[in-house]
Amino acid sequence: MVAPDRFSTGESNLDLHSKDQSQHPACRPEAVIWPVDRVEVSEILKYANKNLIPVTGWGAGTSLEGNPIPVKAGIVLDFSQMNKILDIKEEDFQTDVEPGVIYQDLNEKLRHKGLFFPPDPGAQATIGGMIANNASGTRTVHYGSTKDYVLRLSVVLANGEIIETGTRASKTSSGYDLIHLFVGSEGTLGIMVEATLRLVGLPAEFSAAIVTFPSVEAAGKAVYEIIRSGLDPAALELLAPDCIKLINQEQDLGLNVSPTLFMEYHGPTKNQLAEVLEMVQEICKGEGSGEFRSGLGRTERDHLFKARHELAEMIIRNHPDCSLMVIDVAVPITAYPEIIAFVIEESEKIGIPGYIFGHAGDGNLHLVFMGKTGDEREWKVIDQANQHIVSKALDMGGTATGEHGVGIGKRKFMDAEHGKSLEWMKRIKDLFDPNGILNPGKIFPCK
Ligand SMILES: Cc1cc2nc3c(=O)[nH]c(=O)nc-3n(C[C@H](O)[C@H](O)[C@H](O)COP(=O)(O)OP(=O)(O)OC[C@H]3O[C@@H](n4cnc5c(N)ncnc54)[C@H](O)[C@@H]3O)c2cc1C
Repeated sequence: MVAPDRFSTGESNLDLHSKDQSQHPACRPEAVIWPVDRVEVSEILKYANKNLIPVTGWGAGTSLEGNPIPVKAGIVLDFSQMNKILDIKEEDFQTDVEPGVIYQDLNEKLRHKGLFFPPDPGAQATIGGMIANNASGTRTVHYGSTKDYVLRLSVVLANGEIIETGTRASKTSSGYDLIHLFVGSEGTLGIMVEATLRLVGLPAEFSAAIVTFPSVEAAGKAVYEIIRSGLDPAALELLAPDCIKLINQEQDLGLNVSPTLFMEYHGPTKNQLAEVLEMVQEICKGEGSGEFRSGLGRTERDHLFKARHELAEMIIRNHPDCSLMVIDVAVPITAYPEIIAFVIEESEKIGIPGYIFGHAGDGNLHLVFMGKTGDEREWKVIDQANQHIVSKALDMGGTATGEHGVGIGKRKFMDAEHGKSLEWMKRIKDLFDPNGILNPGKIFPCK
């Protein structure tokens, strides 16, 4: 079905597609295929479905919950050769892309046209992987997550049938919303082969600020007050002192080692942004802020947000014998200060270094633990902390996974989070994939 140079059972290729960036154990597929078009994907799925062979989509393998690990082996479809930007409809603020396009490459192309695709997860992720995980990023607080940008999808179903869903209209109320069924489905309902994405104009002006606080809780309270005031930040990121220390060490930014908020505002004029930042400063003062540096120029802003984006990679680099677990809860914004206090307490209790940061404006908090690889005792303790924090977030009306998806790691919380709806999710899975060949063992346990 495919040219021999796009099919591999070679050990190194199987290894490269056996593991994402999480602590979940590696599992090799039996073969890796690099498809080049939808017809090939359809033929492969027809064959796999008939022969009950598992098929797992692969973008860049940067997931953090084991989402693309082929736990039942079978075939991995690597989309790196389906990486074309097919069309940019500048006047309609849309682009048609193949799933293997890396979102930074897309934004580089769009920049020259005064447009951009806002969701920005920290890693070099593909559009297919972002849609499958419904990824978010630092700008989600203002611009939304990947689900808000998908207008049309072409999907190959488990039986090889190719369907198109969605329209080019910016709104519709026509029928069931299949697009948002596929978004966040982690490749368990179908394989995406093309997407039409909504785009946004680059802001005329932007302004960034950095603010320090006496405690992480005080920073969390300021986040709540900023959101409540309707001042609409374009990014609002929280970083605990350990994260700042690491950033200083790696990138020599000379930041104050304190609980810190990085924020950014977008708007039509510099004057309007200056007024907004004055109000933000007042709010922060009310929570006891220390340093408030605003009006940062583009270079300084780029350095700050580059450091923020690279934070997870810095943590990994600084703990060479460890594996990483990212706890990724999101709660209603009123509960943000409380979940922060809880996470700090849990982290201190277990005595294993934990890095606290998050897309604070979305009520999304990360706690990264670096556990010694293979140390069962340590991982048991980390697992318990994860269990406690997620249960607390669920009790607060939050979610077990703000942006990393369910994969393998969050399966055990699905029942507590979804109750009876989980049964309906399973029925949907059975309807689309009756033989259970699509990314088995993700979202739900293997049958
Ligand atoms: C350092 C670091 C920072 C990160 N920061 C963030 C962040 O801020 N926000 C965030 O949301 N995430 C973040 N992530 C997680 C990760 O980057 C995202 O989940 C991303 O969307 C994964 O994209 P990918 O291309 O690597 O997909 P993969 O990991 O390869 O796959 C993800 C899922 O998509 C499925 N898939 C891939 N292609 C297709 C297709 N064509 N059709 C159907 N299914 C498919 C896979 O089977 C898998 O289930 C971070 C990861 C790292 C390592």
